[in-house]
Amino acid sequence: MQDHTDLSWEWVIGLEVHTHLKTESKLFSPAPVVYGAEPNHAVHPIDLALPGVLPVLNERVVELAIRLGLAIHGTVNPVSVFARKNYFYPDLPKGYQISQFEDPIVSDGWLEIEPEVRGQAKKKAAAGGGGRRRIGITRAHIEEDAGKSIHDVAIAGREDSCIDLNRAGVPLLEIVSEPDMRTAAEASAYLRALRSILRYIGVSDADMEKGQFRCDANVSVRPRGSRELGTRTEIKNLNSFVHVEEAIEAEARRQIELIEDGGTVVQATMGFDPVRRRTSVQRLKENSDDYRYFPDPDLIPLRIEADRIEAVRASLPELPDEKRSRFGSEYGLSDYDAGVLTANRELAAFFEETAKACGSPKAAANWLTRDLLRELRERDVELEETSLTPAILASLIRLVEDGRLTARSAAELFPDLVSDGGDPEVLMRERGLEAVSDAGAIDGLVDQVVEAHPDVVQQIREGDDKPLNFLMGKVMQASRGKAVPAQVRKTLIARIRS
Ligand code: ADP
Ligand code: MG
Repeated sequence: MQDHTDLSWEWVIGLEVHTHLKTESKLFSPAPVVYGAEPNHAVHPIDLALPGVLPVLNERVVELAIRLGLAIHGTVNPVSVFARKNYFYPDLPKGYQISQFEDPIVSDGWLEIEPEVRGQAKKKAAAGGGGRRRIGITRAHIEEDAGKSIHDVAIAGREDSCIDLNRAGVPLLEIVSEPDMRTAAEASAYLRALRSILRYIGVSDADMEKGQFRCDANVSVRPRGSRELGTRTEIKNLNSFVHVEEAIEAEARRQIELIEDGGTVVQATMGFDPVRRRTSVQRLKENSDDYRYFPDPDLIPLRIEADRIEAVRASLPELPDEKRSRFGSEYGLSDYDAGVLTANRELAAFFEETAKACGSPKAAANWLTRDLLRELRERDVELEETSLTPAILASLIRLVEDGRLTARSAAELFPDLVSDGGDPEVLMRERGLEAVSDAGAIDGLVDQVVEAHPDVVQQIREGDDKPLNFLMGKVMQASRGKAVPAQVRKTLIARIRS
């Protein structure tokens, strides 16, 4: 794609997210919400739409929807209405999905995003184009999930398609954004921010791999400067952040090329092929008319009293944004470190406990944002799955700050503390890693190195300081990384200058 194209076209993106709510049982039936169970083992007659059954609303779902509404600064509506969305599909036994249409439980919210700055975008950000942005959330409504079709199952010697209804009736929130995003990076920043909030407030585990957090991306393009929206397409079922970004890029470029070649964008539902990184039309877009929505006569309108909303508000934890700015002011962390640490509630709590126990918030932030996150990535585990505790990390930090353990030796112990826990001080002694700060010992090492490299010493004496680091390295090596570097440097300089 040529550069002028990106300058003359603006991308417009709106996202629809479906997130599974963290409940024990389904939205309208007592069947349990389970993942990975044997097909059709978590199903109640209500999920099967047997004759004569009636839906009973799970109150916990209402609670969680209110939580989300408040966390995204939205309006929790005093009255909302369940509606039937009628369509036929084998995984939908009732022939309709119970959702909310004209009167959703939550409307008019927003959240703040900070797109990751990288590559080309970095220059724009530096020029003042980046930074935090507010993204509008049109609505969030309650609905039930459908079942799942499983294809190519071998049965009695032939391949068949089967239906698993374990997922049928699992409660969802559909969260619909305004068309406020302008780049793929903003879209994925929005998804990350939303997922982080959902997890903080305990509304959803939002695990994409388990299908608990699914995204449809609506994309259109328009000439830069235009205020009218272009015709959009909707890319369905994007199941990773990377795919969301790649699909949006591919679709926006497809539309631009189409228009520049004299064509017009037709409203359609698109699929994304992650291997070829291309979008293609699946079907021409249906309208909401096609679903013949109408209020569900089996369910009365959902009324929520103001007291109930206030009680939920009082029970909300500190949200990521609030925590992030507090981490900046209370602990003097950079905005970047505060952002990384508060993206995950468990990590944020781990940081605060460590900082309080060791008295050094900066050191705690460094260990967590660099070393710990690297270990977690490499091992592909969660913080909770490790044996590291705030007390262990705090005592490791104190050993370093007290000059009893060098940074290098601490880094050597760290992976084992992550795997097995333990007392860093005991481990340090067992491994003979106590820092060498004893003047006599360091003098001895410095003497050895200075005597072994007379020409280098001469060079430094003649005014060239560069090889000093080489000698430092030699002394550190001779101490097996245990000598306190500042002390080695001081001793070396004194010895050379003498
Ligand atoms: P539907 O119910 O048919 O999916 P909505 O009006 O609810 O349609 O919009 C769905 C999503 O599409 C919303 O996230 C909205 O922000 C987004 N959207 C609407 N118009 C556009 C557009 N022209 N370009 C990009 N996104 C759009
Ligand atoms: Mg939609």
